[in-house]
Amino acid sequence: MNALTPSNGGCRTAPVLKERGQREVFCGLTGIIWLHRKMQDAFFLVVGSRTCAHLLQSAAGVMIFAEPRFGTAILEETDLAGMKDAQVEIDREVARLLERRPDIRQLFLVGSCPSEVIKIDLAKAAERLSQIHAPHVRVLNYSGSGIETTFTEGEDACLACMVPVLKSTAARELLVVGALPDVVEDQMLSLLADMGIGPVRLLPARRIDDTTAVGPNTVFALVQPFLGETHAALERRGARYLPAPFPFGDEGTTAWLRAIATEFGVSEETFDAVTAAPRARARKAIAQAAEVLRGKSVFFFPDSQLEIPLARFLTRECGMTAIEVGSPYIHDTLHGPDLDLLPAGPQISEGQDVDKQLDRARAARPDLTICGLGLANPLEAEGLSTKWAIELVFTPVHFYEQAGDLAGLFSRPLRRKAVLHLEAAE
Ligand code: SF4
Repeated sequence: MNALTPSNGGCRTAPVLKERGQREVFCGLTGIIWLHRKMQDAFFLVVGSRTCAHLLQSAAGVMIFAEPRFGTAILEETDLAGMKDAQVEIDREVARLLERRPDIRQLFLVGSCPSEVIKIDLAKAAERLSQIHAPHVRVLNYSGSGIETTFTEGEDACLACMVPVLKSTAARELLVVGALPDVVEDQMLSLLADMGIGPVRLLPARRIDDTTAVGPNTVFALVQPFLGETHAALERRGARYLPAPFPFGDEGTTAWLRAIATEFGVSEETFDAVTAAPRARARKAIAQAAEVLRGKSVFFFPDSQLEIPLARFLTRECGMTAIEVGSPYIHDTLHGPDLDLLPAGPQISEGQDVDKQLDRARAARPDLTICGLGLANPLEAEGLSTKWAIELVFTPVHFYEQAGDLAGLFSRPLRRKAVLHLEAAE
């Protein structure tokens, strides 16, 4: 099978500007917003403050019409002052919740800044509560704390905490890792099934799932580039990673599928027969949506950890030029295949020193800046077009059928600006 060729040398060996200054990021609790939709029998109990509760409620306001699958056990001043036994309080809250909600099969105790500051041992609580509520409910814990994290690390921490409790298997299976919207996941499963690849297991599964197991014959593919901890946890369980570009756009999706197809011995004829029609649709949709992007420049602030694969998509499939591609972390095993394909030229930066990076963006005056919410408004006020990185994890953007929408997310701010200029000129 043909491999994709690196573009004029690629960026894998390009010098990386390492920044360790102030960062502008959301915390890992944000991941609960998409994880609670994905895992239909799970509940996320944040042990945190009123600030944490407000963040979740405002970000997930839609949930008021449904039976919620997340909540906050609020630490009051007496807890923070160590005047109450937090472990007893947590036991009581959990017992009350599980009595009321027999549909809950997995309970995540999610740590926050306040619970970490006062050092509440949520691992101990999860272990004790698992024993009390087993076998009906499995209790796990992870941290969503905002200190020195990015908002996508919440999903990574959640999935990583599930890996040690997955059943062991000796079977040769494909495990696909990362939360996708159901409709996108179904498209992916159908492509893999049409190639005869299986069994395919998912992490996270939609429901607590005895069939998701791991062992020395498991091979796994990631659908999100921010799952470094989960990747390490799976390797510790003996599973083998299939490195590939991430499935964004026609090229990324094809390369991702090809890595799996090669592993499972799928013939080129079968691969082409399965992918030809959706590839053609993806190319057409991208071409339409990307018209306005061609020849434009883009600057990525580090935020979602999707920056490198998206820069690859925007440069190679949408005709943009990348000025700087900033990522909170660069993990060679995970990001290397996308860096190989990213045309040489942009400054690659890891971490953040926000003031210095803002100076670079202002000097470069990119046509489009991808950044966090906190930076977008000031940059818009200075006349730069921006795209909020967080939208990229809330919108279905993976695989062929979403490739046009992905390009559309980036072209919309530029179209809007063009319309506004037109109106101003009239
Ligand atoms: S975990 Fe920390 S950063 Fe996140 S909402 Fe709570 S206090 Fe704020």
